[in-house]
Amino acid sequence: MTRVFSGIKPTGHLTLGNYLGAMRQWAASDQHQADALFCVVDLHALTVHHDPARVRRLSRQAATLLLASGLDPAACTVFVQSHVDEHARLSYLLECVATDGEMRRMIQYKEKAAREQRRGGSVRLSLLTYPVLMAADILAYGTDEVPVGHDQTQHVELARDLAVRFNQRYGHTFVVPKATNPSVAARVMNLQDPLSKMGKSDDTGPGIVYLLDEPDVVRRKVMRAVTDSGRDVVYDREARPGLANLLEILAACSGGNPEALAGVYESYGHVKRDTAEAVVEVLRPVRERHKELCADPGYVEGCCGMVRSGRGAWLGRPWMPRIERSVC
Ligand code: ADP
Repeated sequence: MTRVFSGIKPTGHLTLGNYLGAMRQWAASDQHQADALFCVVDLHALTVHHDPARVRRLSRQAATLLLASGLDPAACTVFVQSHVDEHARLSYLLECVATDGEMRRMIQYKEKAAREQRRGGSVRLSLLTYPVLMAADILAYGTDEVPVGHDQTQHVELARDLAVRFNQRYGHTFVVPKATNPSVAARVMNLQDPLSKMGKSDDTGPGIVYLLDEPDVVRRKVMRAVTDSGRDVVYDREARPGLANLLEILAACSGGNPEALAGVYESYGHVKRDTAEAVVEVLRPVRERHKELCADPGYVEGCCGMVRSGRGAWLGRPWMPRIERSVC
């Protein structure tokens, strides 16, 4: 059976981008069609300035939202990265096949390092090596497919390269994984800055729809989305990025496709209004289930403690003896 692995970083409140780009397909298809593992990758949250207590709170919130978005612990495994020591251990071994140049070419490293410097902080070494830890997350489980938004494609490519290189040097050890992306909304953009990704770690609230935003807040954010001054409704990512983003969000939420939807509308106002309502409806069940789960914290704990406490305790182990033999 195909093995699927993917993760989410507890660096901020989860967004519509996380949901449409990744979580929704994990719940709708991946968990039913594959042997799937979903992880709150808390070690990755330590690569930038953080408050440890907030990382713990956000990890619990992310786990709760994964379950609220429809992940079923009977169908897949949901766990927390730091509960499994092998991630850090394998990361070190993969650092021994990765190169400094490869790390410095990563687009996200350049963006995030610049952000840390703007904040007046120093750039942590782990921010540079973060993609190697991500490769370890993926390779540890013999992953075939990694369902992610477009922003993570470069990192999955690196995991592929490291798997191939390791296998060449030390003998066949790792499955070579591939990224899969949703057909629409694989890159949801910030509503106030449609040239930037809607990212949970950016503190630019008005352009980001959070999964737990109240319906009126969602409506306000979408209605105030930045568009251009044109009048006709066309889908053009280059020339009309703000409008294209709204059409993609609408398509992802209503099941259509952005080009066809553009032909249906005569004004930007109507696109915004329908997009806002579609987003509110898509998020409604997630918010409701999240509320129920918050009333039952033991359930969330139980679901996410499985790797540590029994079912799944074998995960991550099969590669260990092979690596140790190969490296020696
Ligand atoms: P973030 O960038 O919000 O910190 P993560 O790195 O935790 O997100 O990514 C979790 C998943 O959500 C990844 O598969 C990533 O590709 C996806 N994702 C994040 N932001 C977006 C976005 N704006 N559009 C589409 N997918 C996204």
